[in-house]
Amino acid sequence: MDNRDLSKFRSSCRAFLEQEARPFIAEWEKSGLVSRNFWRRAGESGLLGMGVSEQWGGRNRADYHYAAVLTEELIRAEMTAPVIIAHNDVIASYIDMHGTDEQRDRWLPGLCHGELIAAIAVTEPNGGSDSADLATLAVRQGQYYVVDGGKTFITNGINADLILTAVRTSGAERGQGISLLVIERDTGGLTRGDPMKKLGWHASDTASLHFSNCHVPVSNLIGKENIGNFYFMGGMPRERLSISTVAVATAELLLEKTLEYVKSRRAFGQPVGSFQYNRFRLADLDTEVKIARIYLNDAIDKFNRRELNVVEAAQIKLWTTELQVKVADCCMQLHGGVGYLRDTFIGKTWVNSRVQTIYGGTSEVLKEFISKSMGL
Ligand SMILES: Cc1cc2nc3c(=O)[nH]c(=O)nc-3n(C[C@H](O)[C@H](O)[C@H](O)COP(=O)(O)OP(=O)(O)OC[C@H]3O[C@@H](n4cnc5c(N)ncnc54)[C@H](O)[C@@H]3O)c2cc1C
Repeated sequence: MDNRDLSKFRSSCRAFLEQEARPFIAEWEKSGLVSRNFWRRAGESGLLGMGVSEQWGGRNRADYHYAAVLTEELIRAEMTAPVIIAHNDVIASYIDMHGTDEQRDRWLPGLCHGELIAAIAVTEPNGGSDSADLATLAVRQGQYYVVDGGKTFITNGINADLILTAVRTSGAERGQGISLLVIERDTGGLTRGDPMKKLGWHASDTASLHFSNCHVPVSNLIGKENIGNFYFMGGMPRERLSISTVAVATAELLLEKTLEYVKSRRAFGQPVGSFQYNRFRLADLDTEVKIARIYLNDAIDKFNRRELNVVEAAQIKLWTTELQVKVADCCMQLHGGVGYLRDTFIGKTWVNSRVQTIYGGTSEVLKEFISKSMGL
């Protein structure tokens, strides 16, 4: 890792987001959509598909520390980080890793330049935790798959030009028989619901998708048929590392802002941060967040060496997101009534934090998975 280059990259992300994101966030929160112009500007500035090779429009920054720095800066700019993470960390990396050269040629430059926006669609209306239990069917007819079914809670669901969709291509049981198809914007039979009215992360379009007799070219299949779940398992460490990065970056920022607040806010003639109860709570949280940072950095190093396995990725996602929720709740309490205001950093971050233990594998499902790996 080149620390000087990483710090230059951080400065450029910060400058870009201060200019191109922060002034527009209120507008995006109102419309529930990030403007396409932002995506194009992010592409021009080299923030999309950073890990992709230059041959396909990327910046060859495969070291995950770069992705982590971008996430940290998205959080600092109060930008809805999952929209970029889903695009960069999930979809672009699946196409890069498992796509053919023809697919890379077709899609990666657009994804890296912000001309194409991507979404990943796995969750279905009848349940998301049991992702092996998919009902969306893709039946091969000549050079097409005919897709019927539906997905829900899809990040970038309205904006997306490319939807990496998990479909059932065989009657095989459970996790077998799942394939990954890229469904493109203008595919006949694809319809999108209205943006879902979420509690938080307002500057993002989360939507339901419906597929009715959608003809998807066979050339849009990613990797081999019926082993999509295998690809998902391979992509899990990166996806969960990205959610953990959001967790740690958010917890750090929450503590930083709360410390400033409790030093200036006074009650009973003294700063609220000087009461022993609050000092000890903050001391505990500061210690835990520092442990989380070391844990995260270690996981990033392991990921870079291709050594972060799915169980370790589940563990870090579980622990850091639960910590984020705890930190957010305590920091909100320390802000008193101000913390409960909808448009304050603290109020918004408290709500945004809550979903972190739900998407990308709920804490309960992760505990099931981790405990199974322990032979239980
Ligand atoms: C803002 C947001 C963005 C999202 N973005 C995407 C996206 O881009 N793409 C996508 O595909 N999905 C996305 N999701 C969906 C998300 O991944 C699912 O919500 C999540 O996997 C949980 O599934 P579910 O909501 O169907 O809950 P359910 O599976 O119905 O679970 C309900 C409850 O039951 C618990 N439970 C389930 N199984 C067990 C068990 N074995 N033991 C104990 N408890 C259990 C769960 O932990 C949970 O508490 C998003 C969700 C949100 C809220």
